[in-house]
Amino acid sequence: MTADIIDGKAFAEGLRGRIAEQVSALKAKHGVTPGLAAVLVGEDPASQVYVRNKEKQTVECGMASVGRKLSAETTQEELLAVVNELNNDPAVHGILVQLPLPDQINSPAIIPAILPEKDVDGFHPVNVGALASGEPGLVPCTPLGCTMLLKDRLGDLSGANAVIVGRSNIVGKPMAHLLLAENCTVTIAHSRTRDLPDVCRGADILVAAVGRPQMIKGDWIKPDATVIDVGINRVPREDGSGKHRLVGDVDFDEAVEVAGAITPVPGGVGPMTIACLLQNTLSACARQNGIAL
Ligand code: NDP
Repeated sequence: MTADIIDGKAFAEGLRGRIAEQVSALKAKHGVTPGLAAVLVGEDPASQVYVRNKEKQTVECGMASVGRKLSAETTQEELLAVVNELNNDPAVHGILVQLPLPDQINSPAIIPAILPEKDVDGFHPVNVGALASGEPGLVPCTPLGCTMLLKDRLGDLSGANAVIVGRSNIVGKPMAHLLLAENCTVTIAHSRTRDLPDVCRGADILVAAVGRPQMIKGDWIKPDATVIDVGINRVPREDGSGKHRLVGDVDFDEAVEVAGAITPVPGGVGPMTIACLLQNTLSACARQNGIAL
């Protein structure tokens, strides 16, 4: 048996198309243009690429992109002042501060300074609490994208046994809350879990968010399970060229022979993250203007 490939790139493209239509309707009917501000501190090359992609896709959806590029020497006070200015700017509906931040900045103090209604990454304690208690709020983009892919593939997720490997604040924990809200029976596994392969074998839905290349093997997967691979790991190519390639946390070649459906890396979860950021910006803009989408 060979698993169906869940094409996150195509799904994200469709989602961005639907967002662009809603943005255009918002402008026409209400004269409002959603605005997303991305704050980048320093010159980390990976962060620069992420922010550039986010800005490009923001503009392609018809939204306004406000870039704030600050030097690597920026102080905590200076960064907080920028966040405060964006909080008070009515043309900015979503704010993201690209992580990681330089050492002189205390990152945990920055996210709570963003207004919860503009926190389109969904990391503010108010949004974390809203998700945990089933209240409306802004939800972290990567797990939101995973949930969309799962619902698109499986429809009703009620009663499914879901195992999430990884308990980070940005992926594993919010993923667990989202799947609980979909009435899954949720297990969260992590580095102290006993007999992880056996825990994984019980999963109708297996979400891997570990950060360990190809750790999850084919014989850990229940036949016909749906596998969502969040991992993005750079490993050396085997051809001795010195170049790198991206692999997930799941051993794709093995898993594809057992699973019912699986996301590839790249082209699975990755493209969904930015599409969901745009979705959150659109929702935040509508809510701030009292408009029902
Ligand atoms: P973290 O490093 O924050 O968390 C990793 C989690 O995996 C931890 O809970 C850790 O357990 C657990 N873990 C580590 N080793 C093992 C092991 N041997 N067995 C079981 N569990 C283990 O990572 P993130 O959640 O931030 O990211 C996970 C992966 O997802 C990374 O590859 C990252 O690049 C990718 N990612 C992809 C995104 C996308 O857009 N597609 C977005 C965000 C992340 P413990 O808590 O016990 O230490």
